[in-house]
Amino acid sequence: MSHIRTLSPRLANQIAAGEVVERPASVVKEVLENSLDAGATQVDVEVEGAGTRLIRIRDNGHGIAPEEMPLALSRHATSKISSLLDLEQVQSLGFRGEALASIGSVSRLTLTSNPSSQSSEGRCALAEGRDLEVNVKPAPHPRGTTVEVRDLFFNTPARRKFLRTEKTEFNHLEEVVKRLALSRFDVGFKLRHNQKVVHHLKAGTSQAEKQRRVASVCGSAFLDQAVYIETDVPELNLWGWVGLPTFSRHRADLQYFFVNGRVIRDKLIAHAVKQAYRDVLYHGRHPAFVLYLELDPAQVDVNVHPTKHEVRFRDARGMHNFIFSSLHRALADVRPMPDQNIRATDGTAVNTATGEVVQPGLGWGGSADKITSGVAMEQVRSYAGVHPPPEALQDSATQQDVPPLGYALAQLKGIYILAENALGLVLVDMHAAHERITYEHLKRARDAEGVRSQPLLVPQAVAVSAQEVEVAAANAALFQGLGMEVEVASEEALLIRQIPVTLRHSDIEQLLRDVLSDLMDYGSSDRIEAHMDEILSTMACHGSVRANRRLTIPEMNALLRDMEETERSGQCNHGRPTWTQLGLDQLDKLFLRGS
Ligand code: ADP
Ligand code: MG
Repeated sequence: MSHIRTLSPRLANQIAAGEVVERPASVVKEVLENSLDAGATQVDVEVEGAGTRLIRIRDNGHGIAPEEMPLALSRHATSKISSLLDLEQVQSLGFRGEALASIGSVSRLTLTSNPSSQSSEGRCALAEGRDLEVNVKPAPHPRGTTVEVRDLFFNTPARRKFLRTEKTEFNHLEEVVKRLALSRFDVGFKLRHNQKVVHHLKAGTSQAEKQRRVASVCGSAFLDQAVYIETDVPELNLWGWVGLPTFSRHRADLQYFFVNGRVIRDKLIAHAVKQAYRDVLYHGRHPAFVLYLELDPAQVDVNVHPTKHEVRFRDARGMHNFIFSSLHRALADVRPMPDQNIRATDGTAVNTATGEVVQPGLGWGGSADKITSGVAMEQVRSYAGVHPPPEALQDSATQQDVPPLGYALAQLKGIYILAENALGLVLVDMHAAHERITYEHLKRARDAEGVRSQPLLVPQAVAVSAQEVEVAAANAALFQGLGMEVEVASEEALLIRQIPVTLRHSDIEQLLRDVLSDLMDYGSSDRIEAHMDEILSTMACHGSVRANRRLTIPEMNALLRDMEETERSGQCNHGRPTWTQLGLDQLDKLFLRGS
């Protein structure tokens, strides 16, 4: 048996580093967060070898007092909280007082800082030896702090082995900078890699400047096909950009969610967002969004994860519901709208009558198709004030006379409807559009009449865990409302007595199990609705006009008017676009007119 010994400070720090310093990107995250906590308005990040050789981060924040330099490098030393009460209200990004000590234990770290804007004389500190005595010397530095980290993991070969290629490591590192840049529009960011400037993002908080930053971080294609939303209820504010369903991605890589300025990857939030997109997204695709949630810090616990990527909401179910319903409503409004052009020209974000969704339907149901994105881009630009709005948009008189999708001209190959509106030519996929209209109609009818249910001839017993029995009992009303009767049969068994008529051919036992697992994980589940919707969607598909059916002009016009009335009509039931706009300016371009 070995003797019990106290760990040396260096070893203790190295163990702690195992939690927070996984790769160069984690160093950049911790050091940049310190700069933001210090009130910096400009941060410059310089890296070499994806951060394994060098990471140097300089800020113009409030700096560190000379006598506190050694403390900054020691473990459990922080200027950000001093009591448990502080922790419950914490607004700074850091508060554990471990980052610099951990990073310093697995690299060669130098901290240089100057708290004074009068003198350019600062102090430079580095910790050495197993007990980490700190060596402080004078060093020139303007007001602010520079942290230099060289040779990351030089003394922890096991860690170094887990590093991936330079390209992969740099991608992670760049992602960290992007996230923080999206979290603080009021701070300028610069990132250089191997002497080349990768990002140069100027500080600015006007709507146009914010859009510019979102475009340079997420790509202009995202901004072109995103809707700006803003939902403000007392003490709860949700705003940002949600990608149109037709701008979906095959990976969940363009999803940013900030809670009180902190980047969060939280499964409760992810679930709420996914649920909001459920009915409009192509199967297996991921939505894109940049969203900001602001609320009283006491309503959310940020101290649940060492790198603080997760949070816990005091009212988790209420938060899920709030996020879901805000996004759901915004997405339902993605359809051709009569006043959107007029709104887009005035250059400012104007709330709709409800004061909730700003600038709905901006993307014109934009497909990934080049032609559509051209129009959508023109509109976003005019909104952002970068380009003057196209001529047609200014002419609000014409705009008011002609409905958004215009009037039908003809049918092409039995598949597309051609129509003329104020902007030019509208092309509609007849079957896709009709399918969505029928589907929304079926859903409305179901909601109005209530779900019809039928008793099972032989009630179905389902063996579950005791915890699942409890959850089922607590949610009896939810099941009832959806036409399902679930009864507690014993401590570990449930009995399904009644089911919705629409689900008579479904695997009801599996559905029940999935719902219970959702309820345990997120406090809510929309699986039953989702399943019923899927069946309605199939019915709608079969009941809709097929390609090659000849439509009369009045029939086509009726379809266009129905699209304008129908929620989510920008996409068919499978998430494909239903229509696209070909503006006069684009037609002119095709014929080289006016060039
Ligand atoms: P934490 O951020 O959790 O407090 P750190 O180890 O990251 O812990 O930093 C320790 C302390 O060093 C901070 O509380 C802060 O007072 C000081 N510090 C670190 N970086 C900076 C900086 N860039 N500007 C000013 N002070 C800093
Ligand atoms: Mg910190």
